[in-house]
Amino acid sequence: MIDPERLILEFKTLLSIDNPSGKEASLAYYLSDLFSALGYRCFFDRSGEHTGSNVGNLIVHIPGTIPAKPIFFCAHLDSVPPCEGVEYIEEDGLIKSAGKTVLTADDKAGIAVLVELGRVLAENKFPYPPIEFIFTTSEEVGLLGAKYLDYTLMSADEGFVLDSENPEEVINQAPSSYQYRLVVKGKSAHAGLEPEKGINAIKILALILSSLPTGRIDPETTANIGKIQGGTAVNIVPEFAEALGEFRSHSEEKIEELKRSIENTVKDIFANLPKSEDGLPKYDLKFEKVFQGFHIPEDDPLCQLVKRAGERIGLLLTFKKKEGGSDANVFNANGKRCLILGVGMQKVHTKEEFIRKRDLINSARLVLEIVKLKGELSS
Ligand SMILES: [Zn+2]
Repeated sequence: MIDPERLILEFKTLLSIDNPSGKEASLAYYLSDLFSALGYRCFFDRSGEHTGSNVGNLIVHIPGTIPAKPIFFCAHLDSVPPCEGVEYIEEDGLIKSAGKTVLTADDKAGIAVLVELGRVLAENKFPYPPIEFIFTTSEEVGLLGAKYLDYTLMSADEGFVLDSENPEEVINQAPSSYQYRLVVKGKSAHAGLEPEKGINAIKILALILSSLPTGRIDPETTANIGKIQGGTAVNIVPEFAEALGEFRSHSEEKIEELKRSIENTVKDIFANLPKSEDGLPKYDLKFEKVFQGFHIPEDDPLCQLVKRAGERIGLLLTFKKKEGGSDANVFNANGKRCLILGVGMQKVHTKEEFIRKRDLINSARLVLEIVKLKGELSS
């Protein structure tokens, strides 16, 4: 049923459509035209008002041939820069970037697989459940499309996000993540004439940073301080300094513990600093939850479904945890349980990005087999 040549050709066509984050409209309209021509209903939500993208998320409804619970498949529309005017080279069963841009297989490989699945379902009659394709915008700039997705346009509660590398690995676990911003306010003064009137914000920030956790905290938790800035000139005692940090963990308890420990460390250090008459130095510490973790155990029916589908086409699938966030974090947090499937893309976010045609084809075969198996189990 999967037509490998057609799939590869579609993938190459997709490579020619520019899709930087926020400017996914050309790609989204190309897809909505294509799926409408196959007879499927296409919807755009109004997420663009919040994400700043020039188009909303695209939702495609494929009616099932049997009454069954619907499932969804998701791929993101945008790619990281530099991704405009992609040129590629084809050799030894690979398609790779010619070197000036990323290839944009992340995530056009996932999109190509869903186009092929859409075509196969339009051409063949066999038992399959209703299927929803969700094409999200601005995934690469903070999972924005998924965060502002109009979930009322979806009826499926379970599915798969096509946005990982190895098609023989299924991601069933990802961490929660926080980012934080710590601002220290001191007092400026001329560093040579009257340094005693100043309060050095950089020095206070440095004192705090040396006490904050970084690196691998435990096997499932990491922390980082990634950016600092402050001061205005070398001869002025700096009145401002700030640091940006993040931490992530597969354990919800540990991540909350880490958040409290950072709050307490900053508070304690400040409590011991001498204060000026106007109450300086001061600080401001703000946390933002970037994404919510998830874990779908291997004995869950959703994992078993994909595992059996893999066995039936000779793919020995293993389950892995991921250390980053993806649309799957947002879907799971919104009650849309999902796993992440590999689509073959490699060295993503670099100009050496490539994909093996064999892997792309296997990914399409796996996705079709999931649909077939779901149909058999439901009928
Ligand atoms: Zn991606």
